[in-house]
Amino acid sequence: MNELQNEFSWSKTRDEIFRKCPRQYYFQYYGSWGGWKIDCDARTREIYVLKQLQSRSMWAGSKVHDCIRRALENQRRGIKPMLDAEAIDATLASMRNDFANSRRGDYWKNPKTCGLFEHEYKLNLPASAWKETADHAVKCLRNFYCSDVYRQIQSLSLDQWLEMEDFSSFQLEGVKVHVVLDFSYRDANGDIVIYDWKTGRSDAERNDVQLACYSYYATQKWAVEQERVRTIEFNLASGRQLYYALTGKGLESIVHHIRGSIRDMKMLLDDPETNRASEERFTFTTLAATCRYCNYKKVCPHVAA
Ligand code: SF4
Repeated sequence: MNELQNEFSWSKTRDEIFRKCPRQYYFQYYGSWGGWKIDCDARTREIYVLKQLQSRSMWAGSKVHDCIRRALENQRRGIKPMLDAEAIDATLASMRNDFANSRRGDYWKNPKTCGLFEHEYKLNLPASAWKETADHAVKCLRNFYCSDVYRQIQSLSLDQWLEMEDFSSFQLEGVKVHVVLDFSYRDANGDIVIYDWKTGRSDAERNDVQLACYSYYATQKWAVEQERVRTIEFNLASGRQLYYALTGKGLESIVHHIRGSIRDMKMLLDDPETNRASEERFTFTTLAATCRYCNYKKVCPHVAA
């Protein structure tokens, strides 16, 4: 079997990490590479395990996404989806199981089991903080299950469904740009509707770059004009929906942003052709707050120094 290659690609998350701290970016995309192999060196393995850590809010968000995806997948397969109360109970049971595994540190033996940042770095949160995390997940799921959006999805015929959490991509100037649409369908007029489930607590930070990437992807994938794509961020915590439309000008500025980001990332590589990188070329952030919540602070020379 061919050896897996660490190909250069771009995503919104990659861009965010790069801007936060170049060294963190190195750990995430280069230092951890190969850490799944039995014969990898100890530091690579450690970085790889730390890469999988989730904060409790990311964890709650991923549990909400999993629950929604399961409900929609069951609908697609003709399996009667669980009622909201059953789905919430199942999610809470799964969270309790994750919590116990994480607290025992099982992720060091099996990095694909849940590992929580708060456990790894012994933050000793009170029980009320964990309860608040679980309550937040429940609130998001309740809002989803009683939403017009869910009713609307249930009324669609299956041939209207498009992608749901597929790992997709488009090419921009020879670079693969990754996108994952939470849910998308074709409406009765043939227009494309894309939903992005948001589980954060505030509506303040609308993610235009992300939504623009989704819209652009849809125009390429389904060969439709920009004005026939509607992208909607559904904030599951507040129940509010924010609409995004890609305009010519918006597209230009997004392409400009991505192009600049790719150029900056490639500048730090030893060899952009082979995507080879050396750790010392990636500088440290100067913001202590970024280090405080960084998965890699155990292995980072900046913090250890
Ligand atoms: S600990 Fe700080 S400097 Fe080191 S990788 Fe993390 S954010 Fe960057």
